[in-house]
Amino acid sequence: MPEPAGVTVIGAGMAGAACARLLADSHVPVRVLERSRVPGGRLAAPQLGGRRVDIGASYFTVSDDAFGSVVTGWQDKGLARPWTDTFDARPARRDESDSGTGPMRWATREGMSSLIRNLLDGLDVTLHHEVGPLQAGPRGVGQDGGDGFNSRVVVLAMPDPQAARLAGSGPFSQLQAQLDVDFDPVITVTAAWPKREWSFHNGVFVNDHPAITFVADDGARRGDQAAVLVTHTSASLAQRHLADPDATIKPVLRALADVLDVTGEPIWTHAHRWTSAKPVGRHAQSFLWYPIGDIGGEYLNGSAVAVAGDSWCPSGRPRVESAWLSGTAVARHILENW
Ligand SMILES: Cc1cc2nc3c(=O)[nH]c(=O)nc-3n(C[C@H](O)[C@H](O)[C@H](O)COP(=O)(O)OP(=O)(O)OC[C@H]3O[C@@H](n4cnc5c(N)ncnc54)[C@H](O)[C@@H]3O)c2cc1C
Repeated sequence: MPEPAGVTVIGAGMAGAACARLLADSHVPVRVLERSRVPGGRLAAPQLGGRRVDIGASYFTVSDDAFGSVVTGWQDKGLARPWTDTFDARPARRDESDSGTGPMRWATREGMSSLIRNLLDGLDVTLHHEVGPLQAGPRGVGQDGGDGFNSRVVVLAMPDPQAARLAGSGPFSQLQAQLDVDFDPVITVTAAWPKREWSFHNGVFVNDHPAITFVADDGARRGDQAAVLVTHTSASLAQRHLADPDATIKPVLRALADVLDVTGEPIWTHAHRWTSAKPVGRHAQSFLWYPIGDIGGEYLNGSAVAVAGDSWCPSGRPRVESAWLSGTAVARHILENW
């Protein structure tokens, strides 16, 4: 019987990619399984209207030095660039517009998912592979239903509700109980116009509006000046239309006209549903480590399931950076115990 094979990372978002990159660079056998056809998770940037559009995270910020070094590497390769430290902020009424300066927001030329492709470059990644409930057996941790991947460590790099579905049974039920951070939904509405006819620069936080929370100028973000706006709905609007995301397009266009005076007819529109978009709370640790050696079995000593992702965020800001930090922290822990 072969020894359990290395580490399996489930989820090719920022947390999973950061974890797999550090393990591979440290010569630990690692593979990544991802249910989507493309890597990136909530850093999605599909081709819409002939160019990539960031329909997940709008930008990222940097406060940690180690993440800062990775970002500098992306900047040197031309993948990431400082975008802006200033967004407009609009109350729901047009006559109270304001703008404010915050931390530097970073954007990409090829879409946020290009950062994930860079982290995963050269690694063993299987796409379009949805993993089912986990099992512990004599050969390590595997997958229910025979399609086993027998690993010493399995890292669930994903939002709590998605990880909880994989940890639903038997030895993992106590793990499931710890995956208790809820996530709010968001629907992202992208729309393109014939010309750029809006008065704000880069992006707008829309405060206290029932339908929308943030609007990004995707042409400014990408640097190609395309007349494309990406709008994030409020959690309440998204919740009402999870079964039919396209139903948010009309209320979003009405809100753009009302709040930002964007009144022309768009050439095309697109709606994307994020059921688990943003953590409502956060965990006090940067990852969860769930040893399963005491369950028994020939090779189980040292076996564990770990959970990582943006909700594992002691700093209190569950974002792209916290996902990278969480995935990196799991990898460091694995390396210390390998
Ligand atoms: C609309 C929106 C706007 C945002 N704006 C910002 C922003 O401006 N700035 C910022 O810093 N952050 C922002 N965020 C948050 C940011 O995108 C996340 O914090 C970060 O991308 C989370 O990465 P992750 O690796 O933790 O999770 P994810 O990116 O969700 O990755 C999880 C991966 O696991 C995969 N997966 C799940 N279940 C399975 C399974 N059973 N089998 C195989 N694969 C599976 C998923 O397909 C996914 O690829 C935004 C998010 C959204 C949705």
